[in-house]
Amino acid sequence: MAKLTKLDDIVSLCKRRGFIYQSSEIYGGLASCYDYGPLGAELKRNVRDAWWKAVVQMRDDIVGLDCSILMHPMVWKASGHADKFADLVTVCKKCNTRTRIDHLADKSDGDAAEHTEHVNIETEAAKEHDLSNKVCPACQAVGKFGEPMAFKLMFETQMGANADDQMTLWLRPETAQGIFANFRNVLDSTRVKVPFGIAQIGKSFRNEVTTKAFIFRTREFEQAELEFFCAPGTDEDWYEHWKQQRFNWYLDLGIQKENLRFRDHDPDELAHYAKACVDVEYKFPFGSGDWQELEGVANRTDYDLRQHQRGMRTMNDWFESKGDLSKITLKEEAEDYHKGPLSFFDEQNKERFIPYVIEPSAGVDRSTLAFLVDAYDEEEVKGATRSVLRFHPHLAPIKAAIFPLVKKDGMPEIATKLYDDLKGNFACFYDQKGAVGRRYRRQDEAGTPYCLTIDGQTKEDNTVTVRERDSMEQSRINIDQIKAYLREKLDL
Ligand code: ATP
Repeated sequence: MAKLTKLDDIVSLCKRRGFIYQSSEIYGGLASCYDYGPLGAELKRNVRDAWWKAVVQMRDDIVGLDCSILMHPMVWKASGHADKFADLVTVCKKCNTRTRIDHLADKSDGDAAEHTEHVNIETEAAKEHDLSNKVCPACQAVGKFGEPMAFKLMFETQMGANADDQMTLWLRPETAQGIFANFRNVLDSTRVKVPFGIAQIGKSFRNEVTTKAFIFRTREFEQAELEFFCAPGTDEDWYEHWKQQRFNWYLDLGIQKENLRFRDHDPDELAHYAKACVDVEYKFPFGSGDWQELEGVANRTDYDLRQHQRGMRTMNDWFESKGDLSKITLKEEAEDYHKGPLSFFDEQNKERFIPYVIEPSAGVDRSTLAFLVDAYDEEEVKGATRSVLRFHPHLAPIKAAIFPLVKKDGMPEIATKLYDDLKGNFACFYDQKGAVGRRYRRQDEAGTPYCLTIDGQTKEDNTVTVRERDSMEQSRINIDQIKAYLREKLDL
């Protein structure tokens, strides 16, 4: 059983073994940006692949997409991000530190607030905020805060070389909008029919006010999002379906049940258009051993497609008028609903509607951190501490390490041959340096499920020692059977 481990242990293992480094470290580092090293790049790729396999490959009703990060600014106007994607912040008058007001702790609590949701800026801004008893997390001053104000979370950039043709664009703060913007394209170019989903994995950017806890909250991160389109009236069933599917995905990949839970959003937390929202939370080992969002599953109704239809109306000449989003009349709105380009005609029931959307939205980096934390274990073995990452075999960066026991007696030749034979099927690693016990320990720290050692007996009976990571048990398997053995054990 992995114990609750301090994040520092994970951070240090990640650096030492090449999972994750601070970005731009040679220049002192860039806050909240991280690079994945050789083992980390494999791990993260395996997390992505596991998501894609479960959400796209294994389903007949879901297709994939890979959109550009830069999109037409109208996308963010219509989605609401351009005006509303902001956090309410305050500046400490004593030390000038800017903090999200929902992250401020009360003087009496003593502990930093761990609540992490982005607030609904419209409702929050309208509320009275009494900060007189709140503590600045930087200098501990109490109640010395300025007026709360909105802090925009989207990064801006310029497209075009010359001042007169330059256009201000935003780096996408979520991948979802690229899916909505391609809804019609996918309908027209494939055979999908509602109910169906479009999935995407890609980078997103948010100029977060405060970043936190290693790769948990960063300003550049990767999301894995699914927009599942269904008929109004069937949305509640699909919502339940996706809630369970996504929860089970983490369990199937080895997350321990006691570290995973659902948290339903309170009605006042919900965005005005959302019918329901639940977070899949993981018990992360920071703060006071805290439950934090891993993934959100939301019933977004028909809000997004409707908004983009409104956006399109302001840009195109379809139907009669042009205008800005707020000028669209109820009549036009009704017309769009029944004829608009983002509506769907259900051939079977002969009815047209704008599909409802169920959105499971996961963080690739955040779940990678959860998999790392959950897999991390330390145990006493023969008077020494063994650190081991008990990854699910599908996630393990290296599936098998191949060692010659010693660098002589023909062992390296046999080991290299085995390595060459396996590497086309599994991510393998060849190592002939140092005592074999130390080589095992290094692979334990990398989370490698199997080590295969060519030793003196190999030449006699064609068997190799197979050492299993978790139990450390050793058995002898015929070298010709190794590929089939690994395939079965690793379920690959
Ligand atoms: P939070 O409240 O934690 O900022 P959110 O509710 O705004 O997150 P969503 O917009 O629902 O997050 O994003 C979906 C998922 O994307 C989150 O569950 C999380 O896994 C991931 N994610 C969001 N923001 C970040 C970030 N700054 N760094 C890393 N992952 C993130």
